[in-house]
Amino acid sequence: MRCAYCFYNGYMKHTILALTLAASSAAAQPDSIFVNARVYTVDEAFSVAEAFAVEDGMFAAVGSEEEIRALAADSTKVIDLGGMTVLPGLIDAHGHMAGLGQLQLGTLDLAGMMSFEEVINRVVERAETTEPGEWIIGRGWDNESWENKELPNHHELSQAIPEHPVLLSRVDGHAALANQRALEANDISPGTAIPNGGEMLMDDHGEPTGVFIDNAISLVRRVIPESTVSGEDLILAAQDMCLAVGLTGVHDAGVAPDMIDVYMRLESEYKLKVRVHGMIPGTRAPAWFAENKPYHGPFFSMRSAKLFIDGAMGSRGAWMLEPYKDRPFGQDGEPYVGLALAEPGLLQAIAEDGLEKGYQVCIHAIGDRANREVLDLYERAASGSNLKDARFRIEHAQLLAPEDIGRFAELGIIPSMQPTHCTSDMRWIQDRVGPVRADGAYAWQSLLASGVRIASGSDFPVESHNPFLGLYAAVTRQNLESEPAGGWHPTERMSREQALRSFTINAAYAGFNENSVGSIEVDKLADFIVIDRDYMHCSDRDIADTVVLSTWIEGTVVYQEGHSPK
Ligand SMILES: [Zn+2]
Ligand SMILES: [Zn+2]
Repeated sequence: MRCAYCFYNGYMKHTILALTLAASSAAAQPDSIFVNARVYTVDEAFSVAEAFAVEDGMFAAVGSEEEIRALAADSTKVIDLGGMTVLPGLIDAHGHMAGLGQLQLGTLDLAGMMSFEEVINRVVERAETTEPGEWIIGRGWDNESWENKELPNHHELSQAIPEHPVLLSRVDGHAALANQRALEANDISPGTAIPNGGEMLMDDHGEPTGVFIDNAISLVRRVIPESTVSGEDLILAAQDMCLAVGLTGVHDAGVAPDMIDVYMRLESEYKLKVRVHGMIPGTRAPAWFAENKPYHGPFFSMRSAKLFIDGAMGSRGAWMLEPYKDRPFGQDGEPYVGLALAEPGLLQAIAEDGLEKGYQVCIHAIGDRANREVLDLYERAASGSNLKDARFRIEHAQLLAPEDIGRFAELGIIPSMQPTHCTSDMRWIQDRVGPVRADGAYAWQSLLASGVRIASGSDFPVESHNPFLGLYAAVTRQNLESEPAGGWHPTERMSREQALRSFTINAAYAGFNENSVGSIEVDKLADFIVIDRDYMHCSDRDIADTVVLSTWIEGTVVYQEGHSPK
C-alpha cells in the first residue's frame, strides 16, 4: 500500500495561498477530490454530503458524488474514502498541550489507580530507576476512585519512598500530595504561612498531611528543578497525540510567555500542524499585551488571557454559594464554601484591560458562587454593552444557580465546558452540593436553550484528550459502563448534532476561527478527519470507541492510522 506521507507537502504554503486567493471559490481544477464518503459538513443546516473537492488547501466544492466527480481534471487526485464518515477536524476548546506532552515524556501517570496503595506502588517502581535525591513528579490520582475516599496522608508514601522528594498532583490539578522529603526540601512546617486561596491540610496532631490545595501548592513547588524536556518537545509530543485522535485545533489554556516564543518558532518553521489558540496566564496579560498586539497567525494565536477565580469541586476548592454538604466547616471552624483564588476586582481590571486592548478574557469558574462573581464582574467591566464581540468566556461553568443560566446569553459570554468532567464528577457532585443544586451542574441543555453556543473540550491531561470520549459523554451523560441508566440528569444531555457543533464550529467561534475552520464548507481550510463509523447513527456506546483513520490539515494528510505521525 502506498504511504500517504509520500504526497505530503508543506501546508504553510497552502495557508498563504489560501489567504491571498480567498476570493476565488471556483473549483475549475481541484488538486484532489474525496469521494465515496458520508460527510457531516456541520454547516448551518447540518447538511450531509457524499464528496468534496480541495484546491490550494481549501474546500473548493462540497456535494454529491456525481457533482464532485464531474470537477476532476486529468491532474486531479481522486481519493476514494471507501464509504467512511468524514467530520470537520475536531477542536478541543480547553486543553493543556505542555501538560499532555509531559505525560508522554516523563511525568508519572497515576490516572485510573484504584487505591492509594496502587499509587504508592507505581511511585516505588519509578524510584527504582531514579537517582536518590532526584524529584519524582506524578499526576492523576483520584481519591474519589478509591475505596477509602478521604484525601491521603503522606506517611505511607514517605515510608515507601524515603530517598526521593515526591510531588503527586490530584487528577484535577487543584491539589497535590508531597512526601516527607519534598516537605523538608521546601521547609514546610506547621507554621508555614499559607497564601490566600490555598490550604495546607493538617492532621489531628497539627502536622501537615502532605496535601496542599490550590494556591498553597506553590509552597511545595518552590525547589523543583526545571524540567530537562524542552518546550518544543512537549508541544510536538502533544501534537502527535492530538492528531491521532482527530484534533486539528486546541485552545491551550495557559501558555506562559516563554512558551509563546516556542509556539511562534514552531509556526514559523512549519512544524505546528494543530491550530493552537493560546491563552496567556492572565496576571501576565496586561504587561504582555501592553508590549505586543494580539496575534492571530495561521496556526497559532495569542489574543487571549486565562484567569482563575476558584479551585475545583473534587478537591473542594470550588467557590460555592452555600457550604459544602460534605465539609460544612473549614479548619478554622467557620462555614466552608471553598476558595476564592483571586479578588473579583483584580479580575475585573484585567477584563477592562482586555476590552481596551482587544484581547479575550477566559476565567476558570467552577462553583456557583464563582460563576456568579465572574458574570457580575464581566457585567461591570462591560458597563452596559454586550460582550459578544469580545467573546469573553467562562471556563468550566460547572455549577450554576438557576437564575444565572440565562445571563450567559444576555451578556454574550461563551461557556467553555468539558463533557467528560461531568461523567467523572457525577459520582460525587450530589455529596458536595445536595440534590437540588446538582440540577445546575453541567446544565448544557438549559444553557443551549437560553441561546448560547457551548464550546466543548476535555481539559486534557485532566481528562483524556480523545474528543470521542467527550462526544460520548455529551450525548449520554453516562460512564463507559453505560451507567447510570438513561444518563445522569438526562434532560441536560446534548443531541449528537449539538455535541458535534460544540467540538467543531462552536469551539472555532470561541477561538475567533469560525470563518476559516469548524465546518466543511467552500472557502474554508480543508481540515477534516476520516473515522471508522457513522457518528450520527452508530449506537451511543460506539461513539466512545471511534477510531480515527486519518487526519487532514489543509487537504494534506498529517496522521494515518497505523503510521507513526511525522
Ligand atoms: Zn480550569
Ligand atoms: Zn484547564
